[in-house]
Amino acid sequence: MPGAPRKQPEPSGPGSGADLYALCQRLYPIVRSITGNGVRETLRILHEHIDLDIHEVPSGTRVFDWTVPMEWNVSEAHVTSDTGQRVIDLRDHSLHLVSYSEPVRTRVTLEQLQAHLHSLPEHPDWIPYRTSYYSPSWGFCLQHTRRLALQPGSYDVVIDASLQPGSLTYGEFVVPGESSREMLISTHICHPSLANDNLSGIAVATMLAKSLALRSRRPHYTYRFLFIPATIGAITWLARNEARARLAIGGLVLSGIGDAGPLTYKRSRAGNSTTDRVLERVLRRTTGDHRIEDFSPYGYDERQFNSPGINLPVGCLMRTPFGRYPEYHTSADNLDLVTGPALAQALAVCSTALDELDLVRTFTNLAPHCEPQLGRRGLYDDLGGDNDRKSAQMALLWLLSYSDGKHSTLDISDKSGLSLEILDRAAARLQAAGLLGPHRPGD
Ligand code: ZN
Repeated sequence: MPGAPRKQPEPSGPGSGADLYALCQRLYPIVRSITGNGVRETLRILHEHIDLDIHEVPSGTRVFDWTVPMEWNVSEAHVTSDTGQRVIDLRDHSLHLVSYSEPVRTRVTLEQLQAHLHSLPEHPDWIPYRTSYYSPSWGFCLQHTRRLALQPGSYDVVIDASLQPGSLTYGEFVVPGESSREMLISTHICHPSLANDNLSGIAVATMLAKSLALRSRRPHYTYRFLFIPATIGAITWLARNEARARLAIGGLVLSGIGDAGPLTYKRSRAGNSTTDRVLERVLRRTTGDHRIEDFSPYGYDERQFNSPGINLPVGCLMRTPFGRYPEYHTSADNLDLVTGPALAQALAVCSTALDELDLVRTFTNLAPHCEPQLGRRGLYDDLGGDNDRKSAQMALLWLLSYSDGKHSTLDISDKSGLSLEILDRAAARLQAAGLLGPHRPGD
């Protein structure tokens, strides 16, 4: 379906802004909803990048307090005037039809039609995005200017849709680590032609997964990527994977991450989880301008992951938070609103954050009665270049001093200013010398 004007991407490279932008472009025209073939088509395209598993959960399945809805598909939807003019057509833009509209074939007056139309008088050239997932109805969305131009008369309405037992489809991709403890990264796949809201998150999550999977070294934690429809998708996954969710130590929801606004991190409900602390320090270190917000029970799927019965400290990384930019949930959230550099920066921050998260451990000093004699064990002698010598020596002392089974290397890094990489190398040397025990089980 033709959509917004296209923009020339920047020069390409693996996981580059151009790659990320191209994926958004490719996914943009697809008529997606919380179920149906648009989701399957989207996942099929992602499968070209990552070998994800596609799950189908039957309509009617109980998932906690919810039920997996009927599957919705649409082949055509349009409104035609009595002069034969096609005044609204789903073929022109995927936002023209209210998502989950019931099948309809009827003739109505303009007045009757108006009750089913949605437009934005304050932005008369934009098409709003509307859904009707859980209350049966039908409707069309259009530019207010076009709505005002509709002439009195009768209109033929055709919505050739099906709303019947089928399934809810989601994608899951796992990068196995040495530990069974997991990090969850999730993103929504249910919005139709909206570029920042959904497509930016899908593109960044996909390329992040791809780059993690391509690394030669196995990560410490297991990284699980979820490509799920909003709300019902997260609830469905959690209901089917409650035990697995208990193995997760944290995670990230990626959404609205390609616009021009500064990166914004919304903390988990816990507020100071490892994920929260790492995201905040990486943003502080790598971006000139960013925002940190506390958790609130409104937003994306962090609501489900952080609910008290699940209590998984997942934060949300975005740019301008949803609802705080005028283009949000309108046709103006198009491919002009997102840029390759914004997507690439978001990917780089995610990648750095996961690298750091992967190094967080808690150790126990095995010789805790005063300082052990390091020189006798050669720990002062065979260090690397002069520039690194001082911090490597300090890392040994910081680790020995704080490795009481309670303080993690993240705590020690925050206190000492030493990087997690330096602490990791120092911990390996102390372990080899028998001065530091294995890291705490569960890390
Ligand atoms: Zn949305």
